[in-house]
Amino acid sequence: MRRNQAQPAAGTTQAQRSLVAEVASHREALLQACWAHQCWSGRALRTCDGEALEVLTPGWLNRGPGPDFTEARLSIGGREYWGDVEVHLEEQEWGEHGHDRDPRYERVILHVVLRRGQRPATRFVSGEAIPALEAGRYLSAQVLDIVQDAEDMLRRYERLPGRCGLRAALSAPEAVSRVVAHAAEVRARDKAERILPLLGSDGEEQVLFRIVFSYLGYRPCAKLFAALADRFPLESLLPLLALPYPEARAEVLARWFGALGLLQAESLPGADADCQADYGELRARWAALRLPSTADGLPRGGSRPWNSPERRIVGLFHHLYTMGAGGWLKGWLAFLHKLDGLRDRPEFRKEALGHLERAFATPGWEPWRGMYSFARGRLGRPARLIGTERVTMLMANAVLPFFLARARLGADAEMEKVLYRLYLILPAEAPNQRTRFMERRLAGLAPQKRTLRTQQGLLQIHQDFCTSFYEGCERCGFPDLIAPAGASQC
Ligand code: SF4
Repeated sequence: MRRNQAQPAAGTTQAQRSLVAEVASHREALLQACWAHQCWSGRALRTCDGEALEVLTPGWLNRGPGPDFTEARLSIGGREYWGDVEVHLEEQEWGEHGHDRDPRYERVILHVVLRRGQRPATRFVSGEAIPALEAGRYLSAQVLDIVQDAEDMLRRYERLPGRCGLRAALSAPEAVSRVVAHAAEVRARDKAERILPLLGSDGEEQVLFRIVFSYLGYRPCAKLFAALADRFPLESLLPLLALPYPEARAEVLARWFGALGLLQAESLPGADADCQADYGELRARWAALRLPSTADGLPRGGSRPWNSPERRIVGLFHHLYTMGAGGWLKGWLAFLHKLDGLRDRPEFRKEALGHLERAFATPGWEPWRGMYSFARGRLGRPARLIGTERVTMLMANAVLPFFLARARLGADAEMEKVLYRLYLILPAEAPNQRTRFMERRLAGLAPQKRTLRTQQGLLQIHQDFCTSFYEGCERCGFPDLIAPAGASQC
């Protein structure tokens, strides 16, 4: 679709130009609020190419990185599109903000701009022009009434319940919990099924080790950490883990840090004496191994200092050392079998949480408790290397799916029951953009108990309904899965 560049806004009146000038003097939030609430004059909308535009769903407001609205549903020129919408006061901001080089903006289907510029928005991969709406031509005079309320309007829009939330508010709380629990079960099963093909051979322990290591890397370091697990398989580390604690630590960390290219500098200018000594020892041990580094350091950015990848690696070492005396996999199995005996007893929760606390504890003498990287130094106050939230993340994504897959393979129904019970008592991870979104839409009017199971269920519903069907709330089938009050359950 081509269009004339910087085409004058034909048909705009002096009053309309004043409105545009007024909106332009405010922040983008005002135009976002207009888009969210569709505050336009009565004129039928048309894109800058003259195509008829109908907004079926404006999309979900996105406060995080990426486009301003996601999962919008539009009709452009009589064809339905679903995707994201980006809003700018000036058209050239698309290029100025680097969106034309950013894959997160690849799904944008409409660029809403107050005023057109010289360069239309283009897609990253294809370079194709993205349809634009010159919103300045459609502003209603009522926009003057909301100039001070734009943020408030956006907040209200953000908090609107979904159609599912309205149904949930009219249903019995158990009906909502049931459907969330079912979604959590589906999610757990899906994760286990992905692991299933990896099992059945002799290397089960290594499979779990690789999955745990990779999840500890989070997205930026996942591949690097998985490669580290392959390069130094757990079996090769077991003799080192049998050494006295400081010796084992130095040997294992020298391998991991050395392979990641974190021990290349000859010294650490500015680091304190303890840190220098620790670094010097690891570097000397790595040099003695005469192995090449396979990476050149770790990707930076994204994680908070107390959650730096180095801290997670050191935390994993302590976990292995604590659990590994009689075999790491055996340690997990012993824990799960013990829980099996307590399955219907009140001590189940205390025992499970206490065990995980001990299994991921960091000894008080570990210098990394107060550090976040060799080069950049110290934290304000020492903290555990793998805290409760990371443990929950590992349990949800690595440990529980692994043992669920193993239980399925061995048709161990009793073990499955223990694992599902664990989902019930483990606390939720820290909320993220998707869980906050679901809590507002589905659980805003009918709050749910915050457990790992609830959170996993909400994530699954978000994935299956809010992002996969592209129907928006209007045609979403999920609300029908919540039994209305008074309906009987099969
Ligand atoms: S799309 Fe469906 S599941 Fe998502 S908020 Fe709307 S009604 Fe709820």
